Amino acid sequence: AKRAGKGTWVVYEDSMGEAAAEQLTLEQDVRDALRNREFFLAYQPVCDAASTRVLGFEALIRWRHARRGAVPPSVFIPAAERAGLIVAIGDWVLEAACAEAAGWPAPIRVAVNFSPPQFLLPDLCDRVRAVLRRTGLDASRLDVEVTEGLALADADIVLQNMRGLREMGVRISLDDFGTGNSSLSYLCRFPFDKLKIDRSFVLNLGDDDGSRAIVSSVLSLGRSLRMTVVAEGVETSLQLQALQCDQIQGYLLGRPLTPDQARALLAQQATL
Ligand code: C2E
Ligand code: CA
Ligand code: CA
Ligand code: CA
Repeated sequence: AKRAGKGTWVVYEDSMGEAAAEQLTLEQDVRDALRNREFFLAYQPVCDAASTRVLGFEALIRWRHARRGAVPPSVFIPAAERAGLIVAIGDWVLEAACAEAAGWPAPIRVAVNFSPPQFLLPDLCDRVRAVLRRTGLDASRLDVEVTEGLALADADIVLQNMRGLREMGVRISLDDFGTGNSSLSYLCRFPFDKLKIDRSFVLNLGDDDGSRAIVSSVLSLGRSLRMTVVAEGVETSLQLQALQCDQIQGYLLGRPLTPDQARALLAQQATL
């Protein structure tokens, strides 16, 4: 037996591998983290490409565990999905991000990442509507981001939720565009307002003709489908110059910030 968290003991079979045992401990720690309110949010600026003014922030979940230290979301979000905790975490993120954004000056927006399982909830729109009512944030200031992990097999319920959200005034972004193997089928099947070009394409923009060609085709694709195109992971001014996107996100213009830092940035921008 091994201690897995406050008052919880997990018994491991001898046959169970170390890796599997560690996964179970991680899932238990994520469960405890949710109960003990250990998660918090960072806010990364999303800027207008031409003027570099801040248009909004993407909420990014953070977790500092007593023993593990800072655990990246790429590690604990998959664990939360396996443990069936992602809907509860998603509810918490949405509520916290909307509550924070309600204090920002309009029309500054907030973008929240949804895991694919959240789009399968029959009452997704009711949940979102309730959060917006409780926090006082206008639906038109909320973006929901989703990746290509969406199950195309469940397209009916996903479509119904997307239409419902858009009718409320919420906008939907296709995240990490180009990294999956069905990017184009997603664009055909689902109504997205925004397309976020994955960081991997932006990375080689300065010196790689292939990346430049891909980014410019994605741009014209987005334009003809009347979508806003956002470039992610912009780190250098060389990359910025090589891009003709509508919006920019990346370390060059802003790292993920604490809520106080985000508010200070908005106050500073208001005086310019
Ligand atoms: P993402 O949605 O693609 O978020 C962008 C990630 O890129 C963030 O990592 C951000 O810190 C990082 N990033 C931004 N600009 C730059 C840059 O210029 N250079 C580099 N190298 N990295 C940059 P983070 O916060 O570790 O998040 C990783 C992923 O975890 C996110 O990718 C998203 O898929 C997921 N995630 C984060 N927060 C949530 C959440 O609240 N719910 C769900 N379901 N997933 C989340
Ligand atoms: Ca995202
Ligand atoms: Ca992304
Ligand atoms: Ca990503």
